[in-house]
Amino acid sequence: MADEKRYDVVIVGAGPAGLACGQYSSRAGRKTVIIEEMAPGGQTMIIDEIENYPGLGKISGYELATKFEAQATGFGCEIAYGTVNAIKKLSDGSFELDTTDGAYLTPVVVIATGAKHRNLEVPGEKELTGHGVSYCATCDGPFFKNKKILVCGGGDSACQESMYLRKLSDDVTVTHRRDRFRAQASIVQAMKDAGIKTKMNMTVQSINGENGKVKSVTFMDKETGKTSTEEYDGVFIFVGSIPQTALVPDCGKDEAGFIKTDEHMMTSIPGIFAVGDVRNTPFRQIVTAAADGAVAAHYASEYIDSRNNNAY
Ligand code: NAP
Repeated sequence: MADEKRYDVVIVGAGPAGLACGQYSSRAGRKTVIIEEMAPGGQTMIIDEIENYPGLGKISGYELATKFEAQATGFGCEIAYGTVNAIKKLSDGSFELDTTDGAYLTPVVVIATGAKHRNLEVPGEKELTGHGVSYCATCDGPFFKNKKILVCGGGDSACQESMYLRKLSDDVTVTHRRDRFRAQASIVQAMKDAGIKTKMNMTVQSINGENGKVKSVTFMDKETGKTSTEEYDGVFIFVGSIPQTALVPDCGKDEAGFIKTDEHMMTSIPGIFAVGDVRNTPFRQIVTAAADGAVAAHYASEYIDSRNNNAY
């Protein structure tokens, strides 16, 4: 295997957790690479405005992601583009990553693969995705300027993204399946202050199309069992996320499928760490993802020392 690439630390995924890990690891003198399929920044890239990352005031997701990347690469962290197909444990406890960019050898893998949006799983959703159904307000919101918009979900994402959509349209409604939002109280209040309507205790039964585009949504009132149909032009779905854990089928996970770690971010497999949204963290924020990355880098470095193996 003459062509394999050898690193102290290989990070899979260049979101805030992966980039912060890359920054700390490189700064600590470890030869570090982040392997990323798309663009560095992860989901941060599609956030219109971030106002709760400490020290930066209001900043766009794109700008924050760019700063994360520049700081990591500034300390010597490499970013490679490709897909990791598999992670194989070798007899000495190190790992070989099979990627579209060739083989990588490393004693430490950091899983920073994040989470992807969950579908609502109702009739019409799949067929109308890209034709009125969307999972990204900043990407697709401008197509619905001054149109009637429905947002589905009750968490921070639904409430926060509805505020971005409200800048584009006076007619934004958030619908949630319960009578109470899961989102942080401050975000719910800001959403209400912005004049966003709510439709509570309703389940979406179907998204209905006409001429290949979203035309209406059918709801069921959970209290009365009655169904009703209302016209909408756009339906934005934010009903949570699914952790991307396919690379580590043998790591311990919680009941929702998020990777369990110890306080050092080490998974149940020695040498494999997990950070950010893929981890069973109690509070998913950019700042907590970045903190995960810093903690993992620190203890990955200790782990390398403890292996007392200079062969890589
Ligand atoms: P989330 O917190 O898991 O909320 C998902 C929401 O979708 C819940 O209200 C849930 O309802 C609802 N839901 C789930 N499955 C559904 C279904 N099949 N049909 C209808 N509704 C369904 O997800 P999120 O809002 O994407 O947030 C993910 C993480 O990122 C959270 O930790 C959040 O705090 C964080 N985040 C933070 C910010 C911020 O601080 N500014 C912004 C965005 C995200 P139930 O409530 O009934 O379970």
